[in-house]
Amino acid sequence: MNTGKWSSILATLVGILCLICSSFSEPAPYHTFAKDATAAPPLVFYDYIIVGGGTSGCALAATLSQGGRVLLLERGGLPYDDPNVMDIKGFGATLANTSPSSPSQLFISTDGVINHRARVLGGGTALNAGFYSRASTDYVSRMGWDQRAVNESYEWVENKVVFEPEVGAWQSAVRSGLLEAGQFPYNGFTYDHVKGTKVGGTTFDGSGYRHTAADLLEYAHPPNITLYLQAIVEQILFKTEKLPRPRAHGVLFLDPSGNRHLAFLNRGWANEIILSAGALGSPQLLMLSGIGPTGHLRTHGIKVLLDQPMVGQGMADNPMNAIVVPSRRPVETSLIQIVGITQFGSYVESASGPVAFNWVHGLNQQYHKPLS
Ligand SMILES: Cc1cc2nc3c(=O)[nH]c(=O)nc-3n(C[C@H](O)[C@H](O)[C@H](O)COP(=O)(O)OP(=O)(O)OC[C@H]3O[C@@H](n4cnc5c(N)ncnc54)[C@H](O)[C@@H]3O)c2cc1C
Repeated sequence: MNTGKWSSILATLVGILCLICSSFSEPAPYHTFAKDATAAPPLVFYDYIIVGGGTSGCALAATLSQGGRVLLLERGGLPYDDPNVMDIKGFGATLANTSPSSPSQLFISTDGVINHRARVLGGGTALNAGFYSRASTDYVSRMGWDQRAVNESYEWVENKVVFEPEVGAWQSAVRSGLLEAGQFPYNGFTYDHVKGTKVGGTTFDGSGYRHTAADLLEYAHPPNITLYLQAIVEQILFKTEKLPRPRAHGVLFLDPSGNRHLAFLNRGWANEIILSAGALGSPQLLMLSGIGPTGHLRTHGIKVLLDQPMVGQGMADNPMNAIVVPSRRPVETSLIQIVGITQFGSYVESASGPVAFNWVHGLNQQYHKPLS
C-alpha cells in the first residue's frame, strides 16, 4: 500500500457506512410504563405532556418524572425491537430502510439534500453515527447556560449511554493521517470539544451494541410516567379566550388503530406541554396547530391562532462532503471515533465497513424516485 497516498486521502476523508444486520434484541428496561397507544384512554390528564420521545424528549421525561406526572408521546416504536437499529453493523441498513414503518424516515430537502429523520423511541440517537462530544465551553457561555448544571447533565448522560471506543486499525490510520496532515495538537481520548485531533465518545459499546436516549428513561420515576408508543400527535390544543396570547393546554393524538385520544394538562402554574418532535417535527406541529406564518397557514386551510412568521423558516444543517474510498480488502466496521476539529471550524471524521457502496447506491436510487 502506498502510505503517503493513503495518508493524504485520510486527512480529508469523511466516510459513511452501512451494513448487514445481525439479530438480537433486548427487552425495554422500562416496560412497566411503555404501552402501545391503542391502550390509551380517550381522555387523560398529566402535569407535563412531552411530544416526541427522541434525544431531548426522553431525557426531559426522565427528569420531569421526578417531580410531576409525565406523559411522553412517541410516534415510533421501541428501538430494541429492531436488530438493525441496535447493532453497529445495521447502521446503513436502517437508513436505507424506506418502508412506512422504518425507524428512519427518508426525506429530501427542497434544495435536494438527502437526509433522515427519526421515527422511533430514542429519536436520532437510534439512527445516528453515535459520536458523542460535549459542547465547547465558549458555546455554553454564549448560550447563557450555567456551566456547572451543564457539566452535571453531561455526566448524567455519559454514565448511562456513552463509551470510550476501542480504536481499531482503520480509525488508527485516520488518526495518523490527520496528524501527518498537521491537525495538531493530539488530545487523546476526550469528550471535550477542542481543536486538534482526538478520540471522541461513542454510544456504541465494545460489542457494537447501540445505546440510545431511550436508555435514559431508566432514570425515570416509574409511578409518575406513562409512555405511549405509535402515538402520532396531530395537534396541540390552545386556550385563547380572555388570554393575550394562545396558551397550550392539551394535545390530540392518533393510535395505530385510527382512534384519536385527548391529553390535557392538570391545573398547576408550572405544568407544560413540551414540544420535542425534532427540528422538522416541532415547527410542523406548531403550524398544524395554528401557530406560524399567516399566509402559509391559510394556503393549507389552517385556522390561524397566532401569526409567527419565523416558524418553519430558516432551517439549516451542517453541510457534509463525503468521500467513499473503496477497498479490495475487508475493512473493519467502525463509525465516528476519531475527529479532526480544524481551526477553520470544520470537522474531519471517518467511518469504515464492508458495504458502504450498497447504502450510497441505494440512496442514489431513492434520490431519483419520488418519495411517498
Ligand atoms: C444519519 C444521522 C447521523 C447523525 N450522527 C450524529 C452523531 O454521530 N452525533 C451526534 O451528536 N448527532 C448526530 N446526528 C444528529 C442527532 O441525532 C440529532 O441532532 C438529534 O437526535 C436531534 O434530537 P431531537 O431531540 O431534536 O430530535 P429527535 O431525536 O429526532 O426526536 C424527535 C422525536 O419526535 C418524534 N416525533 C416527531 N413528530 C412527532 C409527532 N407528531 N408525534 C409524536 N412523536 C413525534 C420522532 O419520532 C422522534 O423520535 C445524526 C443525525 C442523522 C440523521
